[in-house]
Amino acid sequence: MSSPTPSSARPHVVIVGSGFGGLFAAQRLAKADVDVTLIAKTTHHLFQPMLYQVATGIIAEGEIAPATRVILRKQKNTRVLLGDVFKIDLEGRTVTSRLLERITVTPFDHLIIAAGADQSYFGNDHFAEFAPGMKTIDHALELRGRILGAFEQAELSDDPAERAKLLTFVVIGAGPTGVEMAGQIKEMSDKTLKGTFRNIDPTEARVILLDAAPAVLPPFGEKLGMKAAARLEKMGVEIQLNAMVTGLDYDGLEVKDKDGTTRRIESQCKVWSAGVQASPLGKQLAEQSGVELDRAGRVKVLPDLSIPGHPHVFVVGDMMAVDGVPGVAQGAIQGGRYAADAIKAELKGHTPSERKPFSYFDKGSMATVSRFSAVMQVPIPGLKNKKFETEGYFAWLGWLALHLVYLVGFRNRLNTLVNWFFAFSTRHRTQLAVTEQQVYARTALGALSAMENKPIPEVEAESAGAESTAVEAS
Ligand SMILES: Cc1cc2nc3c(=O)[nH]c(=O)nc-3n(C[C@H](O)[C@H](O)[C@H](O)COP(=O)(O)OP(=O)(O)OC[C@H]3O[C@@H](n4cnc5c(N)ncnc54)[C@H](O)[C@@H]3O)c2cc1C
Repeated sequence: MSSPTPSSARPHVVIVGSGFGGLFAAQRLAKADVDVTLIAKTTHHLFQPMLYQVATGIIAEGEIAPATRVILRKQKNTRVLLGDVFKIDLEGRTVTSRLLERITVTPFDHLIIAAGADQSYFGNDHFAEFAPGMKTIDHALELRGRILGAFEQAELSDDPAERAKLLTFVVIGAGPTGVEMAGQIKEMSDKTLKGTFRNIDPTEARVILLDAAPAVLPPFGEKLGMKAAARLEKMGVEIQLNAMVTGLDYDGLEVKDKDGTTRRIESQCKVWSAGVQASPLGKQLAEQSGVELDRAGRVKVLPDLSIPGHPHVFVVGDMMAVDGVPGVAQGAIQGGRYAADAIKAELKGHTPSERKPFSYFDKGSMATVSRFSAVMQVPIPGLKNKKFETEGYFAWLGWLALHLVYLVGFRNRLNTLVNWFFAFSTRHRTQLAVTEQQVYARTALGALSAMENKPIPEVEAESAGAESTAVEAS
């Protein structure tokens, strides 16, 4: 039995997730008179906005995923636990997590849930095998392997049809991630890989960006969306809108166009960036508290980001549904900090009924399209619903600067800056290594766990005979 247990009589704050919501909430509690336990199923804090650069060989995964316990090492009131939270008991005030066979039950006085969102395949979960999403480092490395692997296989093929299939890359979903991925695959094939093969010409690779919606980058509005589309087309990316994916397999996809006709695209390497589904932990909260979920499974929290009947339980980040708050890093950061501040206010004797509603400060949004090109939208202070919009080189520089600021760790910033310098000035990419495990491990693990068909253990860690860590509630 392991027992990394805070033994003080201070209130115990448990945070689920080490993403933007969870980490920034924990950091906000650094000097508070509480014990904090942050539980996450990954050891790192992942900077998702730059995942596409890992997938396309510009930067290494470590640069955007520093270890959470290292970030928080000087924060003495905080401990970090690795574990997949599979049960939240609101009445019993415990969170239960699993690491391999080890079950850990952690009591809480306050709970901040920031477990984020996953890719949504809109009910077609089997698509995941053929078109990985872009949510985790595993996804990014797997995609890097699939992209480079397709070129390698094409080099070995003398069959024109097979080669065309291998050199056709389809990105499904024309939101920011899809636009970034399509642009970078095209740049990689046209610039970085140019001249590196003998049997194929990588610049002949076809990159298709496809979406069921009628526009590229819908959240950025028509004008910026059209600019981004024009830039992509100039680079050679084919844009197919009003095109709904109805089937996906190893060799390609079935697409239904607006006029009802269906067609097939032969493509071995597909990327899915079309939708999100909030963490399934939201469902447990709904069952126990009656809180509603929206269509993406996000929790319709109260104005103070808590859930009905449980003012000490907050849901923040991509898991929360709050009008006017998009699923972006700033929404999660501000939500996490708000929840931490509400807990700190309680320590000073304030009651939950005194809380001011959460208010989101929109700092604007950006997306890169290609080297030297991005789109940017920033609200104009004092002018409601008016936004300053720009695109091109200066927006791209703004994107680089802003993302560098939010990267955690000086050394990560420096490494990233050096890699950007080489990637953007010489078009060379330093991170083109691929291993067999990166490409196949996720699928293999999925098959393994399906074979084991392990039921989620029933709550009582002790009675399940598993090792447990009981954290004393104060
Ligand atoms: C590819 C991509 C690009 C993006 N680009 C941008 C951008 O340019 N600008 C922008 O503002 N936003 C961007 N976003 C959105 C932004 O990254 C998210 O809004 C933000 O990460 C949400 O923060 P979060 O803390 O809610 O969730 P996340 O950052 O997703 O963190 C969730 C955490 O919960 C943990 N977790 C999940 N389930 C469990 C469980 N059951 N038990 C324990 N731990 C669990 C995970 O390990 C992780 O640590 C992008 C997202 C993606 C995927």
